[in-house]
Amino acid sequence: MSSLNVQGYAAKSVGQSLEPFTYESPELGENDVRVSISHCGVCHTDIHAIDDYYGITTFPFVPGHEIVGYISAVGEAVSGMKVGDRVAIGWQGRSCGKCEWCLKGEEQFCIDIVQSGTWVPYGGFSPSGVVDYRRAYIVPDAIPSEVAAVLTCAGITVYNPLQLYSTRPAQKIGIISVGGLGHLAIQFAHTLEYEVTAISSSPEKEKQALAFGADHFVVSDDQASLNQLEFNFDLLLCTASGKVNWEPLLNTLKKKGIFILVGFQDLELNSTDLVAHQLSIAGSFIGSRTTMQEMFLFAQAHGIKPAIEIMPMSKVNEALQRVKENKARYRIVLVNNK
Ligand SMILES: [Zn+2]
Ligand SMILES: [Zn+2]
Repeated sequence: MSSLNVQGYAAKSVGQSLEPFTYESPELGENDVRVSISHCGVCHTDIHAIDDYYGITTFPFVPGHEIVGYISAVGEAVSGMKVGDRVAIGWQGRSCGKCEWCLKGEEQFCIDIVQSGTWVPYGGFSPSGVVDYRRAYIVPDAIPSEVAAVLTCAGITVYNPLQLYSTRPAQKIGIISVGGLGHLAIQFAHTLEYEVTAISSSPEKEKQALAFGADHFVVSDDQASLNQLEFNFDLLLCTASGKVNWEPLLNTLKKKGIFILVGFQDLELNSTDLVAHQLSIAGSFIGSRTTMQEMFLFAQAHGIKPAIEIMPMSKVNEALQRVKENKARYRIVLVNNK
């Protein structure tokens, strides 16, 4: 096998800025595709992983898991995909294929989840990546590459719970934080006919939140407005990546309401309301292959589009800094030079 050297961007140790990093692209397994990466979105999870927040990062670490590119090589067992196809890849790049969850078609819960990350061994801040073809998705022609990139992580992360909990007649939902995930959650929730209230710490986001499809907008530290929403929401979806003051928000949930987390905040809750109001706390993690395919079709059919800033891959550190400082409007996608 001839080796293929590529130059991506890696953190050499915990919390470090990324540096150019040359490595040997992994060998192609029989179920793998090699992808020539054109676009990769920047997700807050990349920052958490660089900081080893999850305790699973190995260094040097090449982040990036909102990938779009063209297939440049296919393994012997790959079917339904060929060299030249445009594909999108999200956080999960493979799965064990043997555990109870993989066998059920819910690979996102694979027992071997740490090894199934797209960034194992190297992620998408690079010109090339290798993943299992069953975790790559042919991008519908009508969806631009930068849009598809963002849908593969931010999109599926919010679509999965919104679709799972959607009922008729539609429910009232509060979406906490209008950022990379939140601005897409508003669009999906509106299209799924929820009555949507966007809750943000930034008053200047009101106009855009309403344009994304929110029916109402509330500033998260406006205690008087939150008080008026007591027992108002069937669901709260928290898309924030930073610190959240939970107590006043939980009071906006109806009794027996459900509080859904898709980010990775530390939770500090007073259990009194949780118990007395019989609230549920639910997590939601990416989505299955089936849900991912459904999400692409849904986004295409309803014209759901992330708001995107394009930056060259060489400015990856600047992009990460903008995300950390909550300045991205609303998602940054890095583009490799041709
Ligand atoms: Zn992500
Ligand atoms: Zn598995």
